[in-house]
Amino acid sequence: MTTFYEDERTCAVCGHTSTHTVLMSSSAFGAPDLDTRPPPLLRFTLPMQVQCCPSCGYCARDVAQASATARAVVARPDYRAQLRDERFTYLANMFLCQSMILEAEGNHADAGWAALRAAWHCDDEGEEHDVAAALCRRRAAALFAEARRRGHPFAESPEAEAAVLADVLRRSGRFAEAQAAAERGLARRPSGEVERVLRFQRHLCRQRDTGLYTVDDALEWAVGERPEEGNDHPEGSAPSSSPK
Ligand SMILES: [Zn+2]
Repeated sequence: MTTFYEDERTCAVCGHTSTHTVLMSSSAFGAPDLDTRPPPLLRFTLPMQVQCCPSCGYCARDVAQASATARAVVARPDYRAQLRDERFTYLANMFLCQSMILEAEGNHADAGWAALRAAWHCDDEGEEHDVAAALCRRRAAALFAEARRRGHPFAESPEAEAAVLADVLRRSGRFAEAQAAAERGLARRPSGEVERVLRFQRHLCRQRDTGLYTVDDALEWAVGERPEEGNDHPEGSAPSSSPK
């Protein structure tokens, strides 16, 4: 069950007061996607994860809080253009604007997650938004790579970061880079779920598969695989799950 309430927030950038839906709690039933996107019902709470001031366009988790950097970014022409970029869904633009602010604040990890949420909303809006989703993932991958370069973690371990990055790259069709990320994670000799997810990613890259898969799909696939070989089935003979 998902619970929420309506709350009035006063924008910290322009002082305008508006009403926003605030998430109180939700539950998750099933396995997350390979990029950690939660299953229903939590999956459907994206619109409650970012607020946009209807007066000045400031986008944030809470519009009542703003840094000096955020105020400066909201006034920038590229921010104004992003807010109305017709290539993306309205909610994707909100997440991408939030991502621009977080990046300017030096928070590349959260900026990457905001860009990935933008991709998720494009996914939800149908195939005509596939190009937009790939652009969002391209941005997320660049931000995650920058976070890694700066030594700022964006997942619970370097192996988990490799698994997220591999999925973001693979879903946007960048198979060589995705496979390299999976190999980098596997080289750290992870165990358990992460190891199986990374091997599944490597397999999907070899199949040039951009489909959506869950962690359960990876675990199912790994049954019958021989991890010590570090190799997948020959082309076409692998037990595979259908994209959802
Ligand atoms: Zn405002």
